[in-house]
Amino acid sequence: MTRRGDVREDELERLLSPGHVVVSLSPDVAKKPQAQLTFSFAVNLLARLYPVVQRLDVVLPLGSPLVASLPRWPGSNLADHVRTLLQALRPDVEWAVTELVAATPTCHLVIGTSDPAGPTVFLGADGWEARLSSERWMVTGEKVNPVGAYAAACLGVAEVWKRLVHPHTSLFKGVPVVPLEGTLTFSTFSYRVRTGEPNPDLPPTVAIGSLTIVGAGAGGGAAAFTLASLHKLTAAIKAVDPDEINEPNLNRYVFADDDDARARRRKTDLVKELLEARFVGVTVDSVPLAYDKTRAQLSRSDYEYVLAAVHSRTARRQLQFETPKVLWDGAAGEDGEFRIWRMVLGVTECMHCKQPDTNEDPELAKAHQLDELLGLGTDVWFLKVRDNDAFSQEEAARLAERIQQSALDLKVPLAAQRFSDWEAENCGRLKLSEGDDEIPIPFAPVMAGVLLAGEIIKEHSFPEAVLDSYYWNTLMGRFLTRTPPARRSPKTDCSFCHDADYLAQYERRWGARSTR
Ligand SMILES: [Zn+2]
Repeated sequence: MTRRGDVREDELERLLSPGHVVVSLSPDVAKKPQAQLTFSFAVNLLARLYPVVQRLDVVLPLGSPLVASLPRWPGSNLADHVRTLLQALRPDVEWAVTELVAATPTCHLVIGTSDPAGPTVFLGADGWEARLSSERWMVTGEKVNPVGAYAAACLGVAEVWKRLVHPHTSLFKGVPVVPLEGTLTFSTFSYRVRTGEPNPDLPPTVAIGSLTIVGAGAGGGAAAFTLASLHKLTAAIKAVDPDEINEPNLNRYVFADDDDARARRRKTDLVKELLEARFVGVTVDSVPLAYDKTRAQLSRSDYEYVLAAVHSRTARRQLQFETPKVLWDGAAGEDGEFRIWRMVLGVTECMHCKQPDTNEDPELAKAHQLDELLGLGTDVWFLKVRDNDAFSQEEAARLAERIQQSALDLKVPLAAQRFSDWEAENCGRLKLSEGDDEIPIPFAPVMAGVLLAGEIIKEHSFPEAVLDSYYWNTLMGRFLTRTPPARRSPKTDCSFCHDADYLAQYERRWGARSTR
């Protein structure tokens, strides 16, 4: 029986049983910071994968000292850190922290040189490089970099996930689930899948100047968590997001735990605490508002470097009006794809090229449909869809009446309940004919966030190596080995990025445009 007692989850649990995963860290690498980062993040991700993962055995030398710079869940040693994390997360997954592999699992994720037990995925990391194999042990090096370590964890956990769901691929209509066979090395520095790519050391202190993070969800939160895992960081960050941590989203929020959900902590407050607790040289301005309601209090300098990890297309387009010097975006799809963009106005495609404002705007279409079904007016629903506005007492009362009168199979929203929470409760019942809703698998948006943290670091420390201008790959199908980043040029018919006034505004604010 699951904690939530959801009927569909119980069925899924039976179907996917036993879902037993072992993640192990061998003694020969247990004291390497890079191995610890990879291991901690793999545990963090795996524990959130219920009901695919139902039992998680975390195996490591129990006395290993904690040597990695981890932003949360401190412990007197590495095992204690893992226990602290899992206790605070309270996952539906049954878990144990032990020294030995007790039984053959459904899948085994090995960091280091543990003996394989059952189908095994081997993981290693060194600096910017992630190493993955179905065949042999992978080396973890001495270069410490959370971007490479966390990307390795995402790749390794995705391989475990694929092996667990592979017998049940009918659950994923038409989407191929293809476990890796063989060995691959992925550079988070160049996005090339091959060995011998540049793998420079991080500077002793990573300085990223000012950064505005709009949207602190799965991707934005993972980016913040990755930056918070650096050895030393200086930054002036603004974090903008109106939402609180809540239980249904915990599987996607690697930076949050169940205590945060119970306290309904604001996401931006959590990002602030994560970063400010770790670094004296970092300030985070927590702005718990929707982007549209924040605009008046953002200054020109807040738009120099912007990470748009926001769900809303409208907010993305609004951000573009401020012509950021560099605008990063990330996304993930229900088919396990992750995508990242680095946009420079007039040089690469812009948010308006990418998501044109047409009559077909999915958020507006959704608002129309909700209004037809439930009343309240399109404008009201649009704000809820775009900004995740909460229901007022009066709206909740009117909806209760409507739902009862029309005998709709819908849960009545509570006063002060966020739109996304209400929508999640009605999942599978709220039938909308259109819209661009996605149900990403958690490690895909997290991967996008981790890589974007890498881009933010490169922007200041390795400007010659920044993304130009788009990269994507998949964590569910076969990981593509021959798709390098590609330049996405402005669309010829885009009314925004060819607009002389906006191009002049860009140059006035930031000087000449260049991608690198
Ligand atoms: Zn454009």
